[in-house]
Amino acid sequence: MKNISILGSTGSIGTQTLDIVRDNDDINVCALAAGSNIDLLEKQIREFKPKVVSVWDSDKAEELKKRVRDTDVDIYTGMNGLITAATVDSADIVVLAVVGMVGIRPAIAAINAHKDIALANKETLVTAGHIIMTLAKEKNVRILPVDSEHSAIFQCLNGEDTKAVSKLILTASGGPFRGMTREQMKNVKVEDALKHPNWSMGRKITIDSATMVNKGLEIIEAKWLFDMAVEDIQVVVQPQSLIHSMVEFEDGAIMAQLGTPDMRLPIQYALYYPERRYLKGERVDFSKIASINFEIPDMDNFRGLYLARQAGITGGSMPTVMNAANEKAVALFLDKKIGFLDIIDIMEKSMNRHVNIKNPSLEDILQTEQDTYDYIDDLLGERKV
Ligand code: NDP
Ligand code: MG
Repeated sequence: MKNISILGSTGSIGTQTLDIVRDNDDINVCALAAGSNIDLLEKQIREFKPKVVSVWDSDKAEELKKRVRDTDVDIYTGMNGLITAATVDSADIVVLAVVGMVGIRPAIAAINAHKDIALANKETLVTAGHIIMTLAKEKNVRILPVDSEHSAIFQCLNGEDTKAVSKLILTASGGPFRGMTREQMKNVKVEDALKHPNWSMGRKITIDSATMVNKGLEIIEAKWLFDMAVEDIQVVVQPQSLIHSMVEFEDGAIMAQLGTPDMRLPIQYALYYPERRYLKGERVDFSKIASINFEIPDMDNFRGLYLARQAGITGGSMPTVMNAANEKAVALFLDKKIGFLDIIDIMEKSMNRHVNIKNPSLEDILQTEQDTYDYIDDLLGERKV
């Protein structure tokens, strides 16, 4: 029996993880955590019977407690709650599927408690990759990628000598605005940016895909997961999202992983690694695929990808500034407080003013996050947005 804890259980990755639990009878849910969606959490508690549940919002946690008084679940709240869910004794694997840097501390706590991590929450590696990967090595804990590109690379590397890898090739769909200029993207609306051509995902990552910042975050995620230099990680646009990523070896051979765009595959692969098992769903039908195209990403019009990559090259606390600025700006865009291109302008201004810290501690990272938020408040205050 595999025992799992899911942080972010009400989200896109969380609910798809529970689909896999539903379809397999050798997997058991010990703990669930979410932000505020207690309607769905209550249903999940009744169906999956976890021992521990955490709700970030304390009022909602109190309300949920009342609603599930007839069960024997323990309800927690806040960061303490997330960490409790991440470290619950019975769990073997923690599925880290919260969105944003809030995942850093639970990730560290889970590793310290010797739990393997199925990692969807890329913001955690982007900002604290040096801390997470070092600690995981020290504690002999596995960080299993859930992000489809990183899962693809992980699958391509299976059985290979990692010393013979010359390059990682991350594929990108290009998002809904592929081929557009900055001028054309000036007035795009939230609704337009939320229409991803191939994947159905949470709102934040869908906006990140539209700006292509997501691919920049993924470069840094790959750097930490596979111990590669950013310069050896190439991005290639492959609009059909059929090839999920590739690895080039020293002899010139390229291995690729293909499949329909379905996140349940990488989630299941991470949960059962190294075992592969049946997964229901559509299969690739080559008779219906007219062609596969490749393009080089347009880093002039999609400057967010350029900036995120630069942050990855600079390292230190710069990826934290880039990521925190992006998290805050995307939230403001989703709230219709700023325009689409403002996301990248805010990111660039935040990065330009930052004095880089070379090897930031957890405290430095959290302080840099807060400083970046304060700077953006001042910036927008002046503009009276
Ligand atoms: P969603 O927005 O769909 O879900 C986020 C989840 O996190 C929800 O359960 C939400 O709870 C919970 N949450 C948010 N804030 C907190 C908090 N402070 N404490 C506890 N729980 C919280 O996001 P996705 O599932 O799309 O993405 C999750 C992560 O996975 C992101 O880092 C994303 O980049 C990554 N990822 C996602 C992919 C996808 O296909 N969706 C693909 C690859 C990576 P509530 O519902 O109550 O707000
Ligand atoms: Mg991805």
